[in-house]
Order: sequence, then C-alpha cells, then structure tokens
Amino acid sequence: MVGWVLLWTIAGMWGERPQLKASDVVFMYAPRDPALYDAYAGTVVGWAGRARSKSSQDAQWFRQRVEEAQKKGLRYCGSVDFVVDFAGFIDFRPDRFMEAVCRDLDGNPITVPWLWDHRYKGHPAYWFCTNNPDYRAYLRDQVERACLAPIDGLHIDDWRGTAACSAWFGGCFCRHCMEGFRNWLKHRFSEEQLKAMGIERVDEFDLQAFLKPKGVTAEQWRKERPKLPFGELFQQFQTEQMLQVVREVFEYAESLRGKPLLRSVNSSASSPEALVVAPLIDFFCGEMDHHASTAQVPAEPAFVFRLVEGLGKRQAATAAGHDWAWIAANEKPGLVRTWIAQAYAFGSAFMVPHRQWCYTPEKGTHWWEGKTEDFAFVSRFVRENANLFDGYRTLANLSLVYTHGNFGEIRSAAMELLKANIPFSILVAEPSLGVKVTLKDISVCEFLLTGKQPLPTEFERMVKSAKVSVVQWQGIEKLPESASRQVKVSGEKVRVSLRYKPDDPKAPVVCHLLNQDYNLQSDEVRPKEVTISVNRLLLVKAFKDMPRRAILRTPTTPPREIPIRLDGDWLTFTVPELNFWALVEIAVR
Ligand SMILES: [Zn+2]
Repeated sequence: MVGWVLLWTIAGMWGERPQLKASDVVFMYAPRDPALYDAYAGTVVGWAGRARSKSSQDAQWFRQRVEEAQKKGLRYCGSVDFVVDFAGFIDFRPDRFMEAVCRDLDGNPITVPWLWDHRYKGHPAYWFCTNNPDYRAYLRDQVERACLAPIDGLHIDDWRGTAACSAWFGGCFCRHCMEGFRNWLKHRFSEEQLKAMGIERVDEFDLQAFLKPKGVTAEQWRKERPKLPFGELFQQFQTEQMLQVVREVFEYAESLRGKPLLRSVNSSASSPEALVVAPLIDFFCGEMDHHASTAQVPAEPAFVFRLVEGLGKRQAATAAGHDWAWIAANEKPGLVRTWIAQAYAFGSAFMVPHRQWCYTPEKGTHWWEGKTEDFAFVSRFVRENANLFDGYRTLANLSLVYTHGNFGEIRSAAMELLKANIPFSILVAEPSLGVKVTLKDISVCEFLLTGKQPLPTEFERMVKSAKVSVVQWQGIEKLPESASRQVKVSGEKVRVSLRYKPDDPKAPVVCHLLNQDYNLQSDEVRPKEVTISVNRLLLVKAFKDMPRRAILRTPTTPPREIPIRLDGDWLTFTVPELNFWALVEIAVR
C-alpha cells in the first residue's frame, strides 16, 4: 500500500479522464457468443471479470475475452468484487480466512444475506471485512488478475464493502475496525471533545467494550445504530475508509495498466450515500429499482439520470434482481424496452439485457436471457443516431439545486416536474462532490429551485451576481408561470425530454417522446397521436436561428420529415402514431 501514494501522484498527471458516451451501448457481462456484440452494435463491456488465477492458462482465457471484444471496437472493463467473491478469499487465505470475517457486536460472524443459497467448501458466504489487511491483499490480487489483459476500464461491485455491512447489517466489530475507529477518532477530535463524548483515554478506547456494558445488544446496533452512542460517527469512519480503499484499487489498476481506466461502481446514483463515490468514478454502472411488478414505467430512474447529468456523469443502468425475476416469471420484454428508451432519452444508458441476474428471497439466484430480436433493434437505433445523443444536455430554463441536505425536497420536486413534463436540469452545489459550478452555469438558468436547507456560501455568492430568480420549492402550483409553461403535451402518459448541444448552436434540438401507456396483457404500449408545443423562450437557449424543419426518428420506422407550425411563442408538431419511443430532430437548416 505504501507505494500507492506515489502512484496516485502519477495518476494525477494523466489529465483527461475517459468517459461513457451518451450513445454507448453497454454490455453488462461479456456474452458467451461474441456475435452478440455485432448484433447489438455494442461499444462497452461494463462489468466483465478478471482471470480466475494468475496461471498462464487462466490469463490467456481472460485475455481472449478482452481482445475479442476490443477487435469488434468495444472498450472492455474488468471487474473486482468487494463482497461476492467470498470463495476466492477462502482459497487465498485457507489457514486464516475466518480472521477476516465481519463480526457483529457479540463477535458473531456476519454472512451476506442475498447469498444465503451459496456455499463453498462447507462455508456460507461470509461478509469479509475490507478493513482487514489480508482481505485488502485479496482485493489487490483481484486487480492484478484483471490487469493481466489490456483492459480499458475497471468496475467495482459492492464498492461499499464494510461500510454497507455497517450501515445495514450490524458490523463490523473486528479487531481492525476497532483499531481503525480509535485512530480515526484520535485524529479527528481534540482531547476535550473526546472527553465530552465519554472517552477518557482514547488510546484504550474500544467501541465494542464501550457499548456492551451499557446493555446495547447486537440486534439493537443493527436496527437502531444511528440513535446509539457513536452510531453515526462509526458509519462516517466506515464510509471514509471505503472511499480510501476504492481510490486505492482504481489507482493501483491504473498504475499496472499505465493509463487512466474507465472507472465505475455497481450503484444507482439515487441517494446521498451512493453519490459520495462520484468524485472517484467516471460513471455509475448498476442496478436501479424499476418496480417491474407495478407494470408501469417508473419515474425515479429519470430523476437519477438528471442527477448524474448534474455531476457531469452518466448512469449505465440495469434493473434490480427482483425486477428481472418478475420479467422472467412473466416474460415481458416490452416493459423492458420502455426502460431502455427512458434511460437513453434522459442522457444515460440501459445495459443490454442479454443475461440478467434474477433474485427473490424464495428462489434465490436465477437467470433470465433476453432475446436478441426483442432488444437489438433499440441499441442499433441509438448507435445509428449517435450524433443526436453525444454532446447533448437537458434543455431547460429551470434548475434544481442539489445539496445532500436538500436531497428529499429536490427528489420530490424532480418527481413532480417529471410527471408534469416541466423541463428542468440539476445543478450540483454540494461541495464534497467536487463539481465546479461556474457563474455561467448559473446564468444560463432563469430560475433556480432550492430546498429549505441553506446553500454553500460560495454558491450563494455566485447566485447573487447572476441574473436568476431563486424560488424555494413549495409544490408545483407555486411555481411562476414562466417556469412551468414551457412544453405542452397532448395525451396521457407521455414523457418528454428535450436535449440540446450547448457547444453547437447549429446542432438540432432533440425532443425525445416516450409513450409510457404500457398494457400488461399485450406487453406493448398503446400507440397514440401526440401533439407537442415547445415555447420559443426555451428554444432560443439552443438556437440563434428559427427552426426550419423536424425529422421524426423511431427504432422501427425510417426517418421522415413532419410538419412544424410556428404560432406566436409556440413551435408545434404532431407525431401521428407514437410507439414506445420517438425522437424528433428540430433543425435550423
Ligand atoms: Zn472489520
């Protein structure tokens, strides 16, 4: 680990980081048949393993997987597992792996709840502690095996490691966590502060020994930790440790490969806890709840796609294990297509659903294989129109201002605005997330929508010097009319996403139309005629000239021009038979 500090310095000199593009077609795992890469027009393999061992045979096998993808023009991301590869660690330290198991307050070993149906050599799936030096050595070993081939990126599964065990499952009270917490407290607080917390001699402090005589039980700690002494501080310590491990793993891999790698973690960017890793990664790559069993298209992912755009990143999404279990049980690929369309329409990506992990508490792990003919035409549509995706951003004159403290309000505002088709973007003003918001970013908005918690001083200062109206969110009915009347849509259950290319005033504006009127019986949306009107005030943000024509593009029909009408402040067009997804290219030439 000592050398990693130096390696980090070297990494800082590499400059521009690689990115996931809006038109990237991402395979989650490498397919068994590489012909699928061509069928789907794939460009990235997001989460695709490593050599099983360092033997030349295993290294050769992995190198072949990487090179067969690269030959077809894909970027290949190897992966490292912080939690699920428990079997590998049992073999890595056969004599003392039990010393690295996460422990609850009573010292009992903790197992991974969603791997209850997995066993290896007679052992359950232990949750191994990412603060244990032996286990960290195993994470480095995984990185080394991933780097035996010329990978382009690295993915971390279960990046929260012991921080997640601490947040939800009552861990970890192992020797290394106790020692680590003691040192963390010592460096963070003065002697007086520690005394006020009830710590007389910090060098002898042990959280487990402190809690037990107070009658705190392991179950209480698991369920009520935030309310118990040191509960929040312990979680903060665990999160900071995790971020350090994540940083070290990426930097170690980049030093081995000698170049910046496309970095991702398995996560949906859907909570303040999930966002803390943002400064260390290039994109989020993972599961998001899609509420499949409701047979409705969920709005929550669209909020997350807007939020990651505010971070200057993207989400490569897939649905959660229980969503895929529902799709598998009911065979509804048509619902999955609405998820894919929504992700791309909002500037993120939905991973190729060729082989999906399904999970229910009753059935445990099982798999669903999506058929190429159900999905490949959607990916190909994205690739064929890449120029209408890459470099594009949300077109809006209203921005929600994100800070961790305002998460709840910003989320509910976003959900209401999405439902009402009021265009908005998200500005991330949370200093810890490392986004550099400039005066220009603020000045391009007419309205900023904030929550009740105060904004960072620097951000407030910029807001004062920008010509922008600041409105505190109090529900949609309290919004000024000029903020809410930007887009008119005829027809129910149609979601609109307007996107433009800020760097090119001659590039078309793209209006994505998502028909979300899903019929469970037929597994299709009900096609409908939809008329859209967009306010001129919004379009002038994108164009200098007047729009001249509109081209309708869909995954199933050839492109064709449709009439536009300029009427006062409104530009209007009609899509006669909107299926699950159309994009209308509004052009000035
Ligand atoms: Zn531990």
